[in-house]
Amino acid sequence: MTLSSDPQAKTSAPIQAYAAPDKSTPLEPHQITRRAVGPHDIQIEILYSGVCHSDVHQARSEWGPSIYPLVPGHEIVGRITEVGQQVSAFKVGDLAGVGVMVDSCQHCDACEGGEEQYCENSFTPTYNGYERGSKEPTHGGYSTQIVVNDKFVVSIPDNLDLKGVAPLLCAGITTYSPLRHWKIGSGHKVAVVGLGGLGHMGIKFARALGAEVTVFTTSQSKVEDAKRLGAHQVVISSDREAMKTVRNAFDFILSTVPTSHDLAPYLKTLRRGGQLVIVGALEPVGLNGGQLVSHRRSVAGSNIGGVAETQEMLNFCAEHNIVADVEMIDMQDINTAYERMLKNDVKYRFVIDMASLKS
Ligand code: NAP
Ligand code: ZN
Repeated sequence: MTLSSDPQAKTSAPIQAYAAPDKSTPLEPHQITRRAVGPHDIQIEILYSGVCHSDVHQARSEWGPSIYPLVPGHEIVGRITEVGQQVSAFKVGDLAGVGVMVDSCQHCDACEGGEEQYCENSFTPTYNGYERGSKEPTHGGYSTQIVVNDKFVVSIPDNLDLKGVAPLLCAGITTYSPLRHWKIGSGHKVAVVGLGGLGHMGIKFARALGAEVTVFTTSQSKVEDAKRLGAHQVVISSDREAMKTVRNAFDFILSTVPTSHDLAPYLKTLRRGGQLVIVGALEPVGLNGGQLVSHRRSVAGSNIGGVAETQEMLNFCAEHNIVADVEMIDMQDINTAYERMLKNDVKYRFVIDMASLKS
């Protein structure tokens, strides 16, 4: 009998994980517990966990003080090992995914509209937050098992390579959602800034939606890959002459740059009425009002996507045979992976094989 099926049990037996002990110490082995499976809960054995740049930001308290020990990971795929009595949409043995959210208030305007990522009472993050109504910290996917409310679990299509599916739970939905919101499709010229985990998914989705796609990169070494991934054109953003050739060219720009940056060089490449959407930098960004006013250009931000839209994105991926390009790593390699990500050296998402944590 598992502990979680014991009505007296409040938590699971200890579970293997990796955690950042504080903002400046590398991640190390750590044990956590999970709550017992409640009536609406699903217990998932984690098979693969993607490594998002947000994991690095939060492990290092770059978005304000994090909750330590911090177990990152919000690109989770695995197999269901137990379901609560009230769960009807999933069963033991199903493949399942969990992204950036594990709960929300579920009654505000945003939640009722299926946009839990904008919950007016703040969604519960998969890690670096507290379980709703409790002081128990949430722990992410760098672990072997997770227990999640069924409303925040998605089904994984069975025709896709599971390793490449994990990054869809964050990198995938974060790029799919703005492209859909701004109704990008055939006839649109789209540019993606930054060819990393999010950027490479942005290319795949924009292309599958029928747009003409350009990539702005700082890395000469990624030009051929960008084309292989579906870009029609690649521009080295530090090359001023090359930037001039795309003045007023794009309907829509998706910036995945992870830190504060000057938007001016990119805004100049938006056509009249064009839209630039930031998903990366949370810090102040350089913005020149004149560049907006002169061409009725807009700048907006976008945060992941709702649960229903995440399921829609996975179904879209199944239909168009889209997964992330991944480099598999063992859990023990995570600190090297973070350093490589900071050097723009990832093609194009690290995914942890969670079997490495069990061995
Ligand atoms: P990533 O894999 O590290 O990719 C970021 C890419 O941006 C790099 O590979 C690099 O591409 C480019 N870049 C890096 N520094 C740059 C700079 N100073 N100027 C211009 N380009 C630069 O990161 P990611 O996982 O895709 O995440 C990107 C950002 O999105 C992170 O800040 C992450 O926290 C955030 N994020 C937001 C959401 C959301 O919901 N809004 C969700 C997930 C992640 P090149 O080599 O091609 O230049
Ligand atoms: Zn993420």
